[in-house]
Amino acid sequence: MLILSLPIFFIGIIVGSFLNVVILREGIGGKRHKRSICLSCGKQIENKDLVPVFSFFRLRGRCRSCKSRLSPQYPLVEIATGLFFVFAFFHAEKIAVVPLAVADFISLTIIGSLLIIIFVYDLRHKIIPDWTVSSLAFFAILRLSVIHFLFGSLFGQFYFMELLAGILSALPFFLIWLFSGGRLMGLGDAKLMVGLGILLGFRLFLPAIAVSFWLAALIMGLLILAGKFSKNRKLRLIFGDLGRKSEIPLGPFLIAGSLLMFFWSAELIGVFFPFMM
Ligand SMILES: [Zn+2]
Repeated sequence: MLILSLPIFFIGIIVGSFLNVVILREGIGGKRHKRSICLSCGKQIENKDLVPVFSFFRLRGRCRSCKSRLSPQYPLVEIATGLFFVFAFFHAEKIAVVPLAVADFISLTIIGSLLIIIFVYDLRHKIIPDWTVSSLAFFAILRLSVIHFLFGSLFGQFYFMELLAGILSALPFFLIWLFSGGRLMGLGDAKLMVGLGILLGFRLFLPAIAVSFWLAALIMGLLILAGKFSKNRKLRLIFGDLGRKSEIPLGPFLIAGSLLMFFWSAELIGVFFPFMM
């Protein structure tokens, strides 16, 4: 299995370099970029410098012609996608029925790719494009339907309970959006939770939301402290204001908490929610 996970990691890295292109093309305000030019000097990037992950480290993260810094987003997205593919493989590998394992792996790689796009996009622009969350909900329902079809339980009681988990996950976020007039939370977070809730299912959606908020509180707390006490002026400028700014992108935390719970529920539930055992 470890031998197989290496090629899967590399396939993930290649998919990740494609996700970088999608994230850049999506742009903001109709401004679209191509990956093949340097965003600083506008020079076309040569083919030999387009090898995922490898090129970034060989160039020490700088453009070959103007030496300006390249965004670490490129290698980070590529490595994250590679790792996600490996986690998806280990998740599917535990399933004894072969068609079920194949459906599990393929659906997870599609859903994971969408989640990585949403994660980066929300972090950078504090909005979530509609097509990403609707595709996520679509593929989460498709995944659920295929799995229940292979089990012979399509449209059964448990099928509808997992669908209901999607609605119940999104409901509190939708209500906060509604009653705060969109000030405390964007509608994008509610839409994101539909797909995540269906992926997580009835058993895991509440612990996943709890873990997401703990993560958000912990990381925001650490960043605010770093901003207050750092000797580095730039760090103080970036993070010093965080506490007063109301707009914190919640999407990345919801995705991180959900994935932690999805892949490692057995370990995490025992530690954080022993009453659920
Ligand atoms: Zn350049």
